[in-house]
Amino acid sequence: MTNAKLQSLPWQEELLSSLEVGIVVLNEHFQVVVWNQFMENHSDIRPAQICGQSLFAHFDDIDENWLRAKAEPVFNLQTPVFLIWEQRPYLFKFGSNRPITSDSATMYQNVTIFPLITTDDGRVDRLCMLVYDVTDQAVGKLRGERLNEELQYMSRIDGLTGLYNRRYWQERFDAIYKLSRRRDSNVTALMLDIDHFKKINDTYGHQAGDKVIQTLATVIQQCIRETDLAGRYGGEEFALVLPDATAQEALLVAERIRTAVLNTQVQHDTHTICFTVSLGLAPFSQQTRTAMAWLEQADMALYDAKASGRNMALVYTG
Ligand code: GH3
Ligand code: MG
Ligand code: MG
Repeated sequence: MTNAKLQSLPWQEELLSSLEVGIVVLNEHFQVVVWNQFMENHSDIRPAQICGQSLFAHFDDIDENWLRAKAEPVFNLQTPVFLIWEQRPYLFKFGSNRPITSDSATMYQNVTIFPLITTDDGRVDRLCMLVYDVTDQAVGKLRGERLNEELQYMSRIDGLTGLYNRRYWQERFDAIYKLSRRRDSNVTALMLDIDHFKKINDTYGHQAGDKVIQTLATVIQQCIRETDLAGRYGGEEFALVLPDATAQEALLVAERIRTAVLNTQVQHDTHTICFTVSLGLAPFSQQTRTAMAWLEQADMALYDAKASGRNMALVYTG
C-alpha cells in the first residue's frame, strides 16, 4: 500500500475542506495519514506538521490505552465505534468558537471511527475518524437538565424559609414511615408552632412576622443534624423528623430549639421582638397504622403543650 492510493483529486480536497466535520485517518500505529481543514482550523496544526506522526505526540491529553482499546474492534472486527459526548465530552480538546456568553468553552464532540481497507489482502490497516461538533446540542441538553434540577429544587423548597415545603416534607416523611415499619427504627416526629404569633403580626406587622418565621427556620437548622428533616408545614408551623432518635433524645433537641428561641431577638425597624415556641413529639411505634396518624400524635402533644401554658416541649403519651 502506498500513500499514492490515498492521494485525492483537487475537487475531493475542496470537498474535504468545506465539510464542517473533522476527518482524521490513522494507520495501525496511530500515525496521522489524513488531517482535513476542519482539524487544522480547530487545532492550529497543519497537515504537514502532523502527517506521518503519532496522534498521541500532538495530543497528550488523549488517553492512549483507552483509544487503542476502543479502536481494537475497528481493526479486528471491522466494526465501527461511536464515541458520544455524554460519555466523554470530547476526544480532541478544541475551543468551542461560541460567544463568550455561551456555557461551553470547549467543543463537545461525537466521533465515529470506522475501518478502511487499503491493503490488497482485505486487512484493515487504517481507521477513519469523523469528528462532529455537537456543542450546540450538548449545551442545549445540559441547560435543559440544569433547568429541570432548578425547577425540581424550587418545587421542594419553601420560598420564605429555605426549608422543605409541606408537600415535599410529607413525601419524605411517608417514606421514612415505611422504612421505620420495616426496620423498626427509633425515629421521632416533631411539630413546632410559634406561640401567640397572631399578636406579633398584629403588633409589628406582617413583615415583622415573616422575619420571625425566617429567623426561627435558621434557629431550627442550627439545632438539628444534617440527616434530620425540617419543613415548613403551615404559616408558623414546622414539622421535623429526627431519624435515629428516641423520644428522650428528640426531647433534648426540642429543648435545644426552645431555649435557642428564648435567646433569640428579632430586630424590626426600631423594635426588638422576642417570641417563644411550643413543641410536640411522637416516637415511631409499630402500633401507629399510618404516617398521618403518627404526625397527628405529634400534633396532639403540641396541643397539650399549648394548653399547658406554651413555651414547652411535650412527648405524646397515648
Ligand atoms: P398559638 O399560640 O395558639 O399558636 O396562637 P397563634 O396566634 O400563634 O395562632 P393562630 O393560628 O391563631 O395564628 C397564626 C397566625 O399566623 C395567623 C396568620 O395570619 C399568621 N400567618 C400565617 N402564615 C403567615 C406568614 O407566612 N407570614 C406571617 N407574617 N403571618 C402568617
Ligand atoms: Mg401559633
Ligand atoms: Mg399555628
